[in-house]
Amino acid sequence: MYDVCIIGGGVIGCAIARELSRYALSLVLLEKNSDVAEGTTKANSAIVHAGYDAKPGSNKARTNLAGNRLFAGWCRELDVPYDQNTSLVVAFGEDQRQGLAGLLERGQKNGVAGLCLLDEAELRRREPNIGPRAAGALLAETGGICCPYELTIALGTHAVINGAEVRLNCKVQSVTRANGHFRVLTSGGTVESRILINAAGVYADEINNQLSADHFKITPRRGEYWMIDKAYAQTFRATIFQLPTAMGKGILVTPTVEGTMILGPTAEDIEDKEDTRTTAERLDEILRIASLSWPAIPGRSFITAFAGLRAHCDRDDFILGEAPDVPGLINAAGIESPGLTAAPAIALELSALVVDRLQAVQKPGFLPPWSVAPRFRHMNADEKREVIARDPAFGRVICRCEQISEAEIVAAIRRPLGATTLDGVKRRTRAGMGRCQGGFCTPRVLDILSRELNVSPLEITKFGEGSPILTGEVGQGGEPHVG
Ligand SMILES: Cc1cc2nc3c(=O)[nH]c(=O)nc-3n(C[C@H](O)[C@H](O)[C@H](O)COP(=O)(O)OP(=O)(O)OC[C@H]3O[C@@H](n4cnc5c(N)ncnc54)[C@H](O)[C@@H]3O)c2cc1C
Repeated sequence: MYDVCIIGGGVIGCAIARELSRYALSLVLLEKNSDVAEGTTKANSAIVHAGYDAKPGSNKARTNLAGNRLFAGWCRELDVPYDQNTSLVVAFGEDQRQGLAGLLERGQKNGVAGLCLLDEAELRRREPNIGPRAAGALLAETGGICCPYELTIALGTHAVINGAEVRLNCKVQSVTRANGHFRVLTSGGTVESRILINAAGVYADEINNQLSADHFKITPRRGEYWMIDKAYAQTFRATIFQLPTAMGKGILVTPTVEGTMILGPTAEDIEDKEDTRTTAERLDEILRIASLSWPAIPGRSFITAFAGLRAHCDRDDFILGEAPDVPGLINAAGIESPGLTAAPAIALELSALVVDRLQAVQKPGFLPPWSVAPRFRHMNADEKREVIARDPAFGRVICRCEQISEAEIVAAIRRPLGATTLDGVKRRTRAGMGRCQGGFCTPRVLDILSRELNVSPLEITKFGEGSPILTGEVGQGGEPHVG
């Protein structure tokens, strides 16, 4: 019997797990995928929103603002990237200026600091590459960018080194409550707990509706993106938004913390909660709309396209807290944008609720975050020479595009909550994230994974079950082909 069971290893589940691991509680997190941050958390705009867009008085507005204030500190503590690059909402044509004034007013109601309107000249001084129709902008100084999956992996790891159990490849099939506790039937056996935290992303309605009569519905709202090579990193300093619409914050153009650029997302309600494909039609739509912000989009420098699913809830707000009719069921549901920004605040709020319910006490000896291997790509020549002398594996560069060494890949596999798949290595080190998108390093990373995990290369997958890389051995009767 665990004190707390968390369903979902996205940024929300991992942030709650990390906060609760400060207390003398037995804690398990269940994740159906082969890694944490494999759901919505891996594919979004990665913006730390200032908070001018959320409806005043909503859970979104409150937790956005509080999360924004905590974000830089969390990233610093966990040694993950964050950049307060500011956000600009740009009006294209005089008629859109009215919209900016409305956003400014809403932001002021929400208590957002550092908001002001810029005229066209000031906007062009800051962002000389902005499109010719730009007529002014709302500046949000507290807007930033981050790396959602690095943050989530760091949070999950910090929870693990402080005693939390993370069970991957563990899908929750059903949940019931009897005799004052929860029984969670999973693909890996039954788990029992006193408190159940529902952080299941687009599936959070299915978990809640099995236990509570207070039903809600989540519709996946797909957002597609283009990613552009690092060669264009300096095109814009700020995140460039257009005016928000009823479906979301509109199409943005933004630098990422790693120096690529992204364009997107679209917003399309779909049925299938796993359908993260990209489509020619929507990718064209992004180019058409984004070209208002960036007329010279370099079409030959796209390195990939991807899509993520917003957990859009029929209540149009985050559902946070205990279900009214199920004591101990704590929901973090409908966490669409700005859920990433809000994650630190949601984690503090909900973990305080659990601590209060269970009368938990802080445990002595809470350990600091895991310290990652030094990043070869950030070193100068002297530092490189020094680490190679210490460990020659730093001298074997596996991913040429991103300059990732074998030593970093090995460390990413051996660390707590270590990588077991190609995507796991990619999200912990950036091997495979560069211009060639793994074209050169995939076989070498596969070899290292096979050696370190002591399994056949045939067992190494891209992201767990159903994603094999190799299907047979040459000369062993198997037809060699790439899966
Ligand atoms: C296109 C797009 C753009 C966005 N842009 C931003 C942005 O710029 N800024 C911002 O603040 N927010 C943004 N968001 C929102 C943000 O990404 C989400 O709010 C956040 O990632 C949600 O995290 P989560 O942990 O709730 O969900 P998830 O990351 O989806 O995690 C839920 C986890 O639960 C697991 N799970 C589900 N069912 C089960 C089960 N039965 N058994 C076991 N495990 C299960 C899933 O596998 C998943 O890993 C954006 C979202 C999208 C889609």
